[in-house]
Amino acid sequence: MRLRAPAKINLTLDITGVREDGYHLISSVMQQVSLYDTVELRLNTEGSIRISSNVRYIPCDGRNICWKAAERYFQAAGLTGVGADIYIRKIIPTSAGLAGGSSDGAAVMLGLEQLTHALGPRLAEISGSVGADLPFCIKGGTCLCEGIGDILTPVFRSRSNKIHIAVAKNTRGLSTPAIYSLYDSKRREPPVPDTATNTERLVRALERGDIQAVCGCMRNALEEVSAAEKPEIMQLKREMLSLGAINAMMSGSGPSVFGIFPDEDSAKYCVRALKSRGMTAYHAYFL
Ligand code: ATP
Repeated sequence: MRLRAPAKINLTLDITGVREDGYHLISSVMQQVSLYDTVELRLNTEGSIRISSNVRYIPCDGRNICWKAAERYFQAAGLTGVGADIYIRKIIPTSAGLAGGSSDGAAVMLGLEQLTHALGPRLAEISGSVGADLPFCIKGGTCLCEGIGDILTPVFRSRSNKIHIAVAKNTRGLSTPAIYSLYDSKRREPPVPDTATNTERLVRALERGDIQAVCGCMRNALEEVSAAEKPEIMQLKREMLSLGAINAMMSGSGPSVFGIFPDEDSAKYCVRALKSRGMTAYHAYFL
């Protein structure tokens, strides 16, 4: 079985609190985009999980999110003596705020479900125990993600306009836990009070397919913290804006940046220009 594992971007990322166990509570409108890894999956009867990949920089053992996802699936479904051979063709930049690893893990769980039908509606809940972004990657599309990212409300998005983006990275990856703890150490103000209003505005803009209004609502509470670590993030934002983006912002905890463009040609023009400057850059659109 071959599955596509799409990246996500955060159109908003507000931090609304911290749970007693230290996990951050968020309010984030997440959007899947057409930048994919490919996951190939085959059941085996040896009961072992084996992972291989086209790249050397991701772990292919128990540290891989696909490994954890398969193990958790078999355990929750009570399947013994069954294993999985998994091949990951990696395209999505890692440690970039694009949830590439979570999306690969979600693809494994979705694939195992299609092959065995063992979990049914429990799949979404079980996936959350592998990683906070997995429930969204399982659900897909556009969602308001709250709690630690596990409480999902699907958002209707008008398909009248295809929304084109450029997504790029000009510096090495950032660790999500490290950025959250820097956020904690630097934050002096309480969380911004207009989270609900801005989210509501964004949801309405997505419903209408109003790209300008969507761009007016973009914000990310972690951007300042990540940019203090990697000033290249702000440089990349400026480059995207000067190359025609309506708005540009860091995704997740960074350091990848996405820009929303008025049309496909301008997004592709930006990607070509960034690549010619030596960056990793892709054209994609909202799924
Ligand atoms: P998020 O947006 O959810 O914070 P991210 O894009 O910042 O995610 P990932 O690319 O998912 O980060 O990878 C984070 C870490 O997970 C890396 O240290 C990487 O080595 C490890 N990892 C484990 N499995 C995978 C996988 N299948 N693909 C990519 N990275 C993986």
